[in-house]
Amino acid sequence: MKKIAILGSTGSIGTQALDVVKSNPEAFSVEVLTAHSNADLLIQQALEYKPNAVVIGDESKYQFVKDTLWDAGVKVYAGAQALEQIVEMTEIDMVLTALVGAAGLRPTINAIQSGKQIALANKETLVVAGDLVTKLAKEKAVNIYPVDSEHSAIFQCLAGEWHNQIEKIILTASGGPFRGKSKEELATVTKAQALKHPNWDMGAKITIDSASLMNKGLEVIEAKWLFNLTPDQIEVIVHPQSIIHSIVQFTDGSMKAQMGLPDMKLPIQYAMGYPERLKSDFPRFDFFNYPQLTFEQPDRETFRCLNIAFEAMRHGGNMPCVMNAANEIAVAKFLKDEIGFLQIADVVSATMEKVPFISNPTLEDYLASDTEARRIASL
Ligand code: NDP
Ligand code: MG
Repeated sequence: MKKIAILGSTGSIGTQALDVVKSNPEAFSVEVLTAHSNADLLIQQALEYKPNAVVIGDESKYQFVKDTLWDAGVKVYAGAQALEQIVEMTEIDMVLTALVGAAGLRPTINAIQSGKQIALANKETLVVAGDLVTKLAKEKAVNIYPVDSEHSAIFQCLAGEWHNQIEKIILTASGGPFRGKSKEELATVTKAQALKHPNWDMGAKITIDSASLMNKGLEVIEAKWLFNLTPDQIEVIVHPQSIIHSIVQFTDGSMKAQMGLPDMKLPIQYAMGYPERLKSDFPRFDFFNYPQLTFEQPDRETFRCLNIAFEAMRHGGNMPCVMNAANEIAVAKFLKDEIGFLQIADVVSATMEKVPFISNPTLEDYLASDTEARRIASL
């Protein structure tokens, strides 16, 4: 029985992870649940899954959550600091980082420090400080199991291949809702259009990132750290059906791909259950419903964020951290109708030019770069 802490249990990944727990009561129990401000859903989840403790990020909701759960036998905490500390609880075996944005960095570092296994959905943590996080995980002998579907695919392809060299990996991208659109067309797209992803139902931030291809850029950097690759070993192809989740090419030229219907419960369950493949009744893929699987080059001229991310990765240092922070601000502005879709890339690249470069950042440098990038991107 694995005891799991789910950070961000009220989100898209968090709720699907709880579905996985519900379907496998003999394999998992819930130790901790956390939310940012959705107190109602957190309470409902606490009553159903009976965790040891819950954390609500928004401190103004603490009293309400505490009062509602007063006789449920669940400890209630509030605030960002409580979120960082809760992962240290000795009962926890695994922390699933399903919260969004750079807010995941400190809790993930604390979880690794205290020896918890990590199921990592929060890709921003590796984008911001992948060097520190992977180094610490190595020191503490902590495994980081990827939840992101592409990285789970690579991880699954590498089973039994750890001593073999990777020539390159190919991350697949659906292309998002705006695949094939020109710059002129993108100038006027709305938030509602951007939030309609063709294949995946996800939280708002990652859905916008998928539309701009920044999500793929973040994933390229995530893959670099997870699989210890150089930038030249990572390729991106657009595969609109999202059936092949990613591919590894080995030094003998052989390629392994992992495929299946697009359903995040599969990679979530694989990360939580590793090394077991737990039985599931998720819908099965049928070739005859997909007689054509197609592949194309990403349009890097129109969707600038992909190249911006490659550039940030090649620069290294605090550059990916700055890029990520600026992107979080730009996406939030787009979601508030304060900027247009094409300006997301403008805000990100302008911020990357303005924040001073640091080649070997410490954790404090990363946190300061994140703050500075947010300030500049907000101007
Ligand atoms: P959602 O927006 O659906 O959920 C985010 C969760 O994090 C919610 O529980 C939210 O609480 C909580 N949260 C938000 N902001 C903060 C904060 N500042 N501090 C603490 N908690 C916070 O996101 P997703 O589930 O879509 O994505 C989560 C992560 O997983 C992201 O990093 C994303 O890139 C990654 N991912 C997601 C995929 C998907 O299919 N959704 C696929 C691959 C990766 P509240 O509900 O109270 O706001
Ligand atoms: Mg992904």
